[in-house]
Amino acid sequence: MTERYAVIGHPVAHSKSPWIHARFAEATGQDLDYGRIEAPLDGFERAVDAFRAAGGRGLNVTLPFKHAAFRYCQDTSERARRAQAVNTLVFRDRVYGDNTDGAGLTRDIEANLARPLAGKTVLLMGAGGAAQGVAGALLDAGIAGLVIANRTLSKAQSLAARFPPAAASGYGELRAPFDIVINATAAGLGGESVHLPASVLGSQTLAYDMVYGRDTAFLQAARAAGAQACDGLGMLVEQAAESFFIWRGVRPQTRSVLDSLRGG
Ligand code: NAP
Repeated sequence: MTERYAVIGHPVAHSKSPWIHARFAEATGQDLDYGRIEAPLDGFERAVDAFRAAGGRGLNVTLPFKHAAFRYCQDTSERARRAQAVNTLVFRDRVYGDNTDGAGLTRDIEANLARPLAGKTVLLMGAGGAAQGVAGALLDAGIAGLVIANRTLSKAQSLAARFPPAAASGYGELRAPFDIVINATAAGLGGESVHLPASVLGSQTLAYDMVYGRDTAFLQAARAAGAQACDGLGMLVEQAAESFFIWRGVRPQTRSVLDSLRGG
């Protein structure tokens, strides 16, 4: 019997997740249907209740509902509890929540971009849901140091306190080049840019923007500094593969899906 999954968010019309999961299902021979649900901003729980009542087996959760999804769960993974956010819901007898964003990011950096994280200095820009979702996975990868910078410094301080030994900083105070700089802010979405001191990006830096599908000011600045610049499309595909594995017990190959999305 075809089992139903979907991505839920607001907005969700442009999500690539249905296409990605359809490719995974074809490649692994899994019988599933994956749709999209645009829930009203005040209607996340009602929309999830309705999907479950109709037999839905699992959901990916995107902006702005990842915290609401965490609260909705009866059981959660350790990485979801660390992030206090859920992007993958599993409906069995009980509601289980996980967060695959961190695994998706680290796999994209290490496996797809061939940049090992162990021993590297990392600057994480932003302290919202995306940053919360990846901080634990970065530390688990054995990085040498994590600095979390945010426009609202108090949020960076709160987040760093949850992920020792991470340190918090404003953007203006940042100095030496980092091995890896990850933009987990939403600045690029609105065509805005973060005011990052030029010294932060060196020629050996990997500059990674979680936003995908647009050449952000951050990526342009990185290229101008001679750094390697990469958008978040690989993270999107890798976090989806991790969710697919949680739901179906089969790990899909990601390379051809990522190549297709990049038009290769
Ligand atoms: P969020 O919870 O709304 O957080 C937004 C963050 O961006 C906050 O730290 C905010 O700083 C900062 N910000 C927004 N506009 C800014 C500006 N003009 N200058 C400086 N900082 C600014 O959003 P989120 O869930 O963390 O998502 C962040 C981005 O990551 C989104 O673009 C999302 O699409 C992307 N993302 C991608 C993937 C993927 O698979 N590739 C996965 C997850 C998220 P303040 O605290 O000061 O407001």
